[in-house]
Amino acid sequence: MSRLSYKIFGALLLTVLLSVGLTSFAANQLTASQFRQYIIRGNTEFITSVESALGTYYAQYQGWDNVNGVLIQLLGSNGGRLVLSDASGLIVADTQNKWIGYQADEYSLSNGTLISISGTDAGYLYWIGSQGSGSGSGYGKGMQSGQNNSGNAAAGIISESQQQLLDEMNRSIWLSGGLAGLAALGLGLLLASQIIRPLKALSRSARRIAGGELSQRVKVDSRDELGELAESFNHMAQSLETNEQSRQRLLADIAHELRTPLTVIEGTVDGILDGVFEADAQHLTTIKEESATLTRLIKDLRDISLAESGKLKLEMTQLDIADIIRRQAKQASILAKDKSIALLSDIPANLSTVTGDATRLNQITANLLSNALRHTPAGGQISLSLKNMLYRDKPGIMVSITDNGEGIPPADLPHIFDRFYRVNTSRARSEGGSGLGLAIVKEMAEAHGGYVWAESSLGKGSTFNYWLPASHT
Ligand code: ADP
Repeated sequence: MSRLSYKIFGALLLTVLLSVGLTSFAANQLTASQFRQYIIRGNTEFITSVESALGTYYAQYQGWDNVNGVLIQLLGSNGGRLVLSDASGLIVADTQNKWIGYQADEYSLSNGTLISISGTDAGYLYWIGSQGSGSGSGYGKGMQSGQNNSGNAAAGIISESQQQLLDEMNRSIWLSGGLAGLAALGLGLLLASQIIRPLKALSRSARRIAGGELSQRVKVDSRDELGELAESFNHMAQSLETNEQSRQRLLADIAHELRTPLTVIEGTVDGILDGVFEADAQHLTTIKEESATLTRLIKDLRDISLAESGKLKLEMTQLDIADIIRRQAKQASILAKDKSIALLSDIPANLSTVTGDATRLNQITANLLSNALRHTPAGGQISLSLKNMLYRDKPGIMVSITDNGEGIPPADLPHIFDRFYRVNTSRARSEGGSGLGLAIVKEMAEAHGGYVWAESSLGKGSTFNYWLPASHT
């Protein structure tokens, strides 16, 4: 048993013992006292009726002659023993016929009940409790015939059979208390095991995950807090596994991306050293270009890792996004002209301002424009447009860059913002694309509290949109 089971078992045992013990004890006390009350009431009624009958007898016969038979009759099936003495204490009747003729002393007289008829002391009645035990105490109840004044002490004389009944009842209470306790304990242990079992499974799986088995999951078989815990655990395990997979993929991608330019540089340098290539401008330019690719790749990776870890420092100012778009359009227009691509802009007045980092917003726009330029054929068209737009009920500005290039296949569209994702791997690489451009755009836009998305129709062109929240005014 684990330590938690010990604790739960201990707590249960203590609770059951305390509650069952206290309840049984209270029930015992209550039963005994109620039983005594009941007996006393019965005894009181009995002795009153005996006294009354004796009073009538005395009044009728002017003495106690032959009273013994009457006394035996009066005792009937009642427990104990009745003894009657005359006013002087001389015993005149005894239901056990043992003390007749004996003189009761003062002490015995004080334990008896005085029977007085119309002011005259007629005798004393003694009721001795347990038959034969000799321990029965005298029963006293003042009585004056004709008035039946109930008066002084009333003792709870309990006969042996009544005592047996009481003991039996008490035993039953303790027994049922014990049985109820055992049942509660058993049920409690069953419930405790239902709590402990999933916890044990969780801790087993957690240990396995710590040991590197990231595919570990626990079974969710309840909808309570434990079920929620198991579900959260599975989510955590899932995200650990996904993160680990994407970490491994990222490492492989980075290694792959670094290898291509490095191989070119190494090959060119080796060729020059071996005298195969001339150390001329052409080969040196190749080395320079590949080095520039490596530098760009490292810069992009740094940007992405900073953005992903939330450590990207943004110098936020309130700015007019139209200015940025105009500047970027101007820069792109040179390349567009070279490729005979028409670059159109639609920038309306009264646009909201946004709060953002001008350098990063320039970077977003430049990346999207450079992609559009790369994917639009000569004679094609790129248009830039801006508008105030509510996105998920929040006011902001949407920037759209639309080209009429080759478009993106629907199967690739959901992945183009992933790191190192390229639609046409060889072509993209030969054009200098690292596959990180859109991933950077996405991270930057989200760092500004914005969104980015793309729409495309294969063979017709693509539109890349980014939305930034308007400044609070
Ligand atoms: P790259 O550096 O390779 O361009 P990006 O992350 O910028 O990487 O883009 C990812 C992929 O999305 C590209 O390989 C390209 O195939 C596709 N893509 C991006 N922009 C466009 C566009 N305007 N038209 C068609 N395809 C595009």
